[in-house]
Amino acid sequence: MSFSQLAISGSIQRALNDLGYTNPTPIQSKAIPIVRQRKDLLGCAQTGTGKTAGFAIPVLELMEEDRKSQPKPRGIQVLVLTPTRELAIQVLESFRDYGKYLPFRSVALFGGVSQVPQVQELNRGVDILVATPGRLLDLIQQGLLSLDTIRYFVLDEADRMLDMGFVHDVKRIVRMLPVKRQTLFFSATMPTEIKKLADSMLVQPETVAV
Ligand code: AMP
Repeated sequence: MSFSQLAISGSIQRALNDLGYTNPTPIQSKAIPIVRQRKDLLGCAQTGTGKTAGFAIPVLELMEEDRKSQPKPRGIQVLVLTPTRELAIQVLESFRDYGKYLPFRSVALFGGVSQVPQVQELNRGVDILVATPGRLLDLIQQGLLSLDTIRYFVLDEADRMLDMGFVHDVKRIVRMLPVKRQTLFFSATMPTEIKKLADSMLVQPETVAV
C-alpha cells in the first residue's frame, strides 16, 4: 500500500513527501482508517513500527476538520502521555514534522528541567500537548493548565508506564479528561493488567496488532 491509497490530507501528505516517506508501515495502514472514523483504538505495537505517525497523522487530519467547524479559541485539543522525556520529545517532533504546514502549536512537558520555558510556551497558546505524567500533574496542580478542552487522548507505551510506576498518575489524569473524547491506547505488550487499564479508558475500541 502507498500513502496515496490512504488519501492523506494535502498538507500532511506534502510534509510526508518532504520526509521521504513513501509507504505506510503496517500499523499505519491499519490504524489511520480507524482513527479517522473517530473510534477508540487499542494498538499493540513496539517502538520502531511507525506507531507515532500511526496516531499523529490521523489526529492532525481530525484537528484540521475540527478547525474548519470550530472557530478559536479551542484550547488544548490533544494530550499524548509518554513514560519518558525522550519519548515525549520524539512524539513532539513527529507532530511538528507531519504538521509543519498546519497552523497548530505543540509543546512537550517533562520533568528534570525548569518549568519556566514550558509554562511560557503554554501561555502562548497550545493545541497539542505531549507530556510525562509527573510534570503534567504538577503544572495542573499549580493551576497553570487545564485538560477540559482535550478531544484526543493518546496513551503511549502503556506497559512502560506501568513498569515505571506511573499507573496512579495516569489514572488521575484520565479522570480529569472530558468523557467525550477519542482515546488511542498503545502498548508493546498486553498482559492482563494492561488490558484492564485499557478497558477502563476505551469505549468500544478497535484493536490493531502488528
Ligand atoms: P516510531 O515507531 O513511531 O518510533 O517510528 C520509527 C521511525 O520510523 C521514526 O524515525 C519515523 O520517522 C520512521 N517512520 C515512520 N513511519 C514511516 C514511513 N511510513 N516511512 C518511512 N519512515 C517512517
